[in-house]
Amino acid sequence: MENRQLELKEDVRSYLAASFQAESEDEEECNSYLCGLLEVMSSPPMFTTLRLNTATRSSREVEAMIREEIQKVYSLRNLDPPRIFLHPVLDNVLILENRGPQQIRKMEKEVIVDQNCGMAVLRGADIFVQGILGAPANMLLGDTVSVYADLDGKCLRGNMQPWKGSRFHVGNGVAQMDRDVVFKTKPAPSGVGILMTEPLYEAPCLSDLRPDLIMAQNLPSIMCSYVLDPQPGERILDMCAAPGGKTTHIASKMKNEGEVIAIDRSDNKVDKIKSNLEKWGLTCVSCYACDALKISVGPIGGNVNFPEIPAEYFDRILVDVPCSALGQRPSLKNNISLNSLQSYAGYQRKFIRKAVQLLRPGGVLLYSTCTVTLEENEKQVVWIQDNLPGLSLTAQCPVLGSAGRKCRGLTDEQRQLIQVFDPSRDTPCDKMADYDKDTIGFFIAKFTKIKI
Ligand code: SAH
Repeated sequence: MENRQLELKEDVRSYLAASFQAESEDEEECNSYLCGLLEVMSSPPMFTTLRLNTATRSSREVEAMIREEIQKVYSLRNLDPPRIFLHPVLDNVLILENRGPQQIRKMEKEVIVDQNCGMAVLRGADIFVQGILGAPANMLLGDTVSVYADLDGKCLRGNMQPWKGSRFHVGNGVAQMDRDVVFKTKPAPSGVGILMTEPLYEAPCLSDLRPDLIMAQNLPSIMCSYVLDPQPGERILDMCAAPGGKTTHIASKMKNEGEVIAIDRSDNKVDKIKSNLEKWGLTCVSCYACDALKISVGPIGGNVNFPEIPAEYFDRILVDVPCSALGQRPSLKNNISLNSLQSYAGYQRKFIRKAVQLLRPGGVLLYSTCTVTLEENEKQVVWIQDNLPGLSLTAQCPVLGSAGRKCRGLTDEQRQLIQVFDPSRDTPCDKMADYDKDTIGFFIAKFTKIKI
């Protein structure tokens, strides 16, 4: 996987290059930045981070229980357990060090899965029956097979031939059923179809591992709720909440006391938030499936009767916007169109405008994305400064990432107030720990609403 780069459509790549170029005098430096960025995006982070439920036990106690569970998972696969340790700064975060890439044999029998499934394998998942697109006619239960991700999204379910299209070998595994059972049984079977025994990257398979005690969450996403810093008893709005990773963290930090409103547009996804809250026994959150941009802002002092909410009702608002998600790792090929990429910034600004109406003076607005474009990140901060004078860029705590990137309209002091997770970037701060640097790409800006 070394030196491989995340593949983008030609016009998207050129657009990104031009966008970075416009902010710098040094063309060479910009090109090498983009290459480094796309290279690092094509491989998975070498650390898995788990947020621990410490409502009824100390993090040390939860750590001990999880360590034991993980050891069981690894010994089942004849793998040595990974290094596991608590994050030295974040009080409820357990870190697991993954291994890879390993040399893997090419087996005669080949299974094809879609890209999403393949990327999940690179972060430790097994393959569920529904994820299998193709398998040879003679695949039998117990066979060791090589698993490939179809990078073009062209393989149809039921394919029987070796896949000739663009593909990537994510590891080998053992078939848990015959080919005919995968494709011909009615109703379709469920559960694990291929157990990954020789993955390219060894990362713990964590599905179903004590969901009441841990939630796998990327470190920068965990940072959002620390920086938002919700307090017990406060009123918090999470505008784009599903599947609820940050919502559960917010409610936990509030010790389940106060009022959290979590919104997401899609019904199914809101069910996911509810189920995550239930697993952790969190009851201070009300979830709504609706368009957050359509919340009608009522008069100050009215009662909360959603979807009408009084103006300036909330103490803190998390605006974890829909974004182009180019910071997600690993990602080998992204077919996003230029039009779609360019549409995000305008859409995101609508969430920010709505949040400002709903936030009380003195309240906190946290804006975050899991992407790497300047347009959705640093340039949004410039736009806010130019268009929303009621929001003041505010220092964050804790800080584990690096400063905002160079961008016209941002001073060096303002860049220091921004927190960027950019695994490709050489930061002047050599002290940065590997587990804080080798993350997905992410952006966090914090604002306070001031009276104007
Ligand atoms: N905060 C979440 C991740 C959010 S991803 C977590 O930490 O788990 C962005 C979310 O925005 C998606 O789930 C998407 O369904 C939602 N979304 C997109 N447009 C929306 C809208 N108009 N109103 C509410 N939610 C929206």
